[in-house]
Amino acid sequence: MSAGADRYSLVVKGGTLVIPGVGRVCADVGIRGGTIVALGDDLASPADAVFDAAGKIVLPGIFDPHAHIGNERAYEEEAETETRAAVLGGVTTIGIFLRSLEESYLKHLPAFRKAMDERSYVDSVFHPQIFTEEQIEEIPIYAEQFGIRSFKFYMSGMPGIVKSITDDVLLHGFRTVAGLGADAIACVHCETGVLIDAARRELQKQKDGTLADWEHAHPADAEALAIQTALYLAKVAGAHLYVVHLSSRQGLEVVRNARRQGLRFTVETTTPYLGIASDDANGFLVKMVPPVRTKDHHDALWEGVREGTINTVGTDNTSRCLATKKPEAGLHGARPGLPVLGTHLPALLHYGRERNVPLEILIDSATRAPAKTYGIYPKKGTIAVGSDADLVVVDLDLERTVRAEELQGMSDFSPFQGKTLRGWPVATIKAGDIVARDGKIVGKPTGRYLPRTASKVAPDVPWIRPQA
Ligand SMILES: [Zn+2]
Repeated sequence: MSAGADRYSLVVKGGTLVIPGVGRVCADVGIRGGTIVALGDDLASPADAVFDAAGKIVLPGIFDPHAHIGNERAYEEEAETETRAAVLGGVTTIGIFLRSLEESYLKHLPAFRKAMDERSYVDSVFHPQIFTEEQIEEIPIYAEQFGIRSFKFYMSGMPGIVKSITDDVLLHGFRTVAGLGADAIACVHCETGVLIDAARRELQKQKDGTLADWEHAHPADAEALAIQTALYLAKVAGAHLYVVHLSSRQGLEVVRNARRQGLRFTVETTTPYLGIASDDANGFLVKMVPPVRTKDHHDALWEGVREGTINTVGTDNTSRCLATKKPEAGLHGARPGLPVLGTHLPALLHYGRERNVPLEILIDSATRAPAKTYGIYPKKGTIAVGSDADLVVVDLDLERTVRAEELQGMSDFSPFQGKTLRGWPVATIKAGDIVARDGKIVGKPTGRYLPRTASKVAPDVPWIRPQA
């Protein structure tokens, strides 16, 4: 045997692979360099290292399509600290919603990209958030020069944080995105601004309140109505709509009706909306926009995940520290934003399995479905020969109580803190290297920014999953 040619750099041995679209397969994974090169029983070639995954499940590295980086501290710093928390939690790729409220992204994209190439533990794609007509005009340049295929629009902004765009600007944005090609994605924060404004005025009459009161600041009807509008405008423009962070039963009902009419679009929810309710004991630590809602909405969102009307599950991670979150400032003063990259996979597994949602569906929503949507499948989002060797080895029975300091991001709190979640990663493998093991970082930040190439093929996600 020629020295080295057949040698694996790493073999993940004896685990049960969960392969989206295939199911559970007992097989070893042979890795050379950063790529999966073999799957099979008892891989025979020698290996530099062997990871014993017996009794564990092996998942594709988790792709969180919805993260914010640099909203609290410098972008470069969070590119390191928040992706460290991510990789420790089994997330190996993130989609980052970039923020430049006024200026052209051409001023910022080189630095954003450099940070992800030099400091990140995870791979990344970019979704610039579009606020100005100038930015809309530059969308083709962002695509051409930086390989960006997805852009985000806020129908309703967040008072004091980001502004809203009007429907005419949204339509112009949709048309520009559609002009890039069938694979381009228009992500939308769907809330109708005037309904939010009215609800907030009403809530201002109230001096104090609880997290449950905050739910009324962003009524579910405002989400449902905005989805209806966005669907119509996307249809007019021929754009592929991606509804970010669906949070309500009413919103889901609009999505279902539109799917029944044959409209093709993609819908995301997040682990906080699936697991944390508005009566949560952590109170304003969990303040978010849109708000976490009552358990009735959880029931609806889980039905959506199970039946496939909700395609992807992300985080909407926006890291903060207690000093800026200010939970003690209450209903009007506490700031939205949740550090949740490190708890994403455990929360998905814990709350999903509590409701008997099949593991294959949970994993699909956090790997293959977002990877297909954003044009990085099958490099990401599956376990296959030729795919990137990003894997997460999970002990489904491992229970841990969430403590912020163990998550290793920059935040000193977690909205899940104090909760015991079942199902945690015991190792994360990124590009063929073991980067995290038993709750500790053991590798280096080797993440890369992933420019995407244009494709004539529209995102191919299941619209309604065939029912068993
Ligand atoms: Zn977001």
